[in-house]
Amino acid sequence: MSEQKLSFQAEASQILDIVANSLYSNKEIFLRELISNASDACDRLRYEALTQPGLTGDDPEYKIALACDAKARRVSVSDNGIGMNRDELVENLGTIAHSGTAAFVHQLKDKPEGVNLIGRFGVGFYSAFMVAETVEVLSRKAGEAEGWRWASDGHGEFTISEAEDAPARGTRITLKLKKGQEEFLDPLRLERIVRTYSDHIAIPVVLAKDGIEETLNAASALWTRPKSEISDAQYKEFYHHVAHAFDEPWLRLHFKAEGVIEYTGLLYVPSTKPFDLFQPERKHGVKLYVKRVFITDDCEGLVPPYLRFLRGIVDSEDLPLNISRETLQDNPVLAKIGNAVTKRTLNELKKKAKKAPEEYATFWDNFGGVLKEGLYEDEGRRETLFELARFPSTRGSEGTSLADYLGRMPEGQDAIYYISGEDAESLRKSPQLEGFEAKGVEVLFMTDPVDEFWLPAIAEYEGKPFKSVTRGGADLAKIADRGEEQAEADRADGAEEAPGIDTLVAFVKLALKDQVKDVRASERLTDSPVCLVADEGDMDMHLERLLKQHRQIDQTSRRILEINPKHSLIRRLSNELETKGALGGKTGTEGPGAPLEEAARLLLDQARILEGEPLPDPGAFARRLAMLVERGFASPG
Ligand code: ADP
Ligand code: MG
Repeated sequence: MSEQKLSFQAEASQILDIVANSLYSNKEIFLRELISNASDACDRLRYEALTQPGLTGDDPEYKIALACDAKARRVSVSDNGIGMNRDELVENLGTIAHSGTAAFVHQLKDKPEGVNLIGRFGVGFYSAFMVAETVEVLSRKAGEAEGWRWASDGHGEFTISEAEDAPARGTRITLKLKKGQEEFLDPLRLERIVRTYSDHIAIPVVLAKDGIEETLNAASALWTRPKSEISDAQYKEFYHHVAHAFDEPWLRLHFKAEGVIEYTGLLYVPSTKPFDLFQPERKHGVKLYVKRVFITDDCEGLVPPYLRFLRGIVDSEDLPLNISRETLQDNPVLAKIGNAVTKRTLNELKKKAKKAPEEYATFWDNFGGVLKEGLYEDEGRRETLFELARFPSTRGSEGTSLADYLGRMPEGQDAIYYISGEDAESLRKSPQLEGFEAKGVEVLFMTDPVDEFWLPAIAEYEGKPFKSVTRGGADLAKIADRGEEQAEADRADGAEEAPGIDTLVAFVKLALKDQVKDVRASERLTDSPVCLVADEGDMDMHLERLLKQHRQIDQTSRRILEINPKHSLIRRLSNELETKGALGGKTGTEGPGAPLEEAARLLLDQARILEGEPLPDPGAFARRLAMLVERGFASPG
């Protein structure tokens, strides 16, 4: 078949441009990326060969071989792994499969600092173009007859053609180095790079020197080595390889279980948030091995979805090697391992929370929103997860634990109060918090989307119910005042209640008719004149707004308007109502309503604005406001 020219997918092309022009100083990482891919390819073939031994035929020893040709300025990486056929070459090297990476590239566009991120995120195969002017990939898929040649200079297009000179099985990637990159022709330099980045690779990486093949790495699975013989740098490199991530691991767990069930785990918690953390599949990043043989990186049940930020491996001694990926899920041994891994991880997190609360706060920032999913998905571990949970609150932006929150509750408080919304900073300004602040009652901020799921599902913690401050009665009366000092301050404020508040409430209710569910005097306001709250049995207002935004519901339920009897505006209105009656000196029903009725409608709109809700009739709001301001100026005093 003749040569065909194809275009890179747009995102792939963008990455290539960034990579090829990058001034990124660690260009040597291209070798780590190619060796990492070669090792993955060997792992995948080893798994396939479990059921199809014919695939490895007369060449059962896996190997990754480096070679350089100084005269031709070429360096190559060969493996006898699974290989790629034509379609796979096109798909795997011409497009970006991970949607997270594609999203990342979109963000990088036009950002010069993007270059520095290459080292942090890794660009896999494309990193070859940092040092190469052309890249040639020869590959033959295990078990297939045809071999293929893929070649590109990284500028928008690549070619593909049949190739008889492809390796008997696997892939050879040859880089024609750019001028100035001759250092990578030096065997000693290559050796140093392999020792630095790829020592943990379980497959021998060999380099021919003076006709003798020398193995450059330790070539045993890192997790099987004794802890004392593994350096931090080696642990870190393994994390980069296994997680396809390039940040520092935040936490590392390396353990060997030797009981009824035997297995080894080497797990990491990343220090930064991966892009695909909230994709609907909620896939975890822990690979399953059986007796050092890679089985799958998609093993449901090995790690619960709420720990999907974990990266690493679990290697079991007891699962059968020929287990099919499909039946794994129902395997009781796997369930036991999954349980034990979860327990260990949560324990380790607990220790970290106790020993290094500041570092723990970073972790919580990154992954708290995921961990909280466990609150309603894993009832058996709810207590532990509650211990791990941290919430920003009215007390400060650093998160508090629920235990600490309970410890600070003033006498008479018998609920855990929270408010939910997009972010802590805007929640801090909510009028519904005022009465709680005045009484010294701390309110937790619930800002993760997942909060809307577990809060309704979980009634209480340590016997104390969770209660939204934007719903139902505030029951603040039962809570002792902050002390004499506060009471003194209140008196000095002259914050007395409007005497005719009941009449005003009844009047406003009448004026607003069915626009609100109810009107009542507020216990929870001190500074603002009004606020909206949801009725006891109704949905949380924030959740309702979210659902409406996503068109899950058509209409929000009617709110309760609370008015602040101590606010000067409310006292004025109450006064006006007492002295002049409902019509406020105006008669007749034509034209704009009586001023007090207009004021009632303004109060409702004001409450809506404070809540961040859209006004149903902004025009009417503007007219009313204009009218009342005008009146105010017309009759001073
Ligand atoms: P990643 O390794 O994160 O998937 P890469 O850009 O490094 O991304 O590689 C892209 C894909 O190309 C791999 O997922 C794999 O399917 C394929 N690939 C790359 N190198 C090899 C190889 N040596 N043998 C077989 N497949 C390979
Ligand atoms: Mg890779």
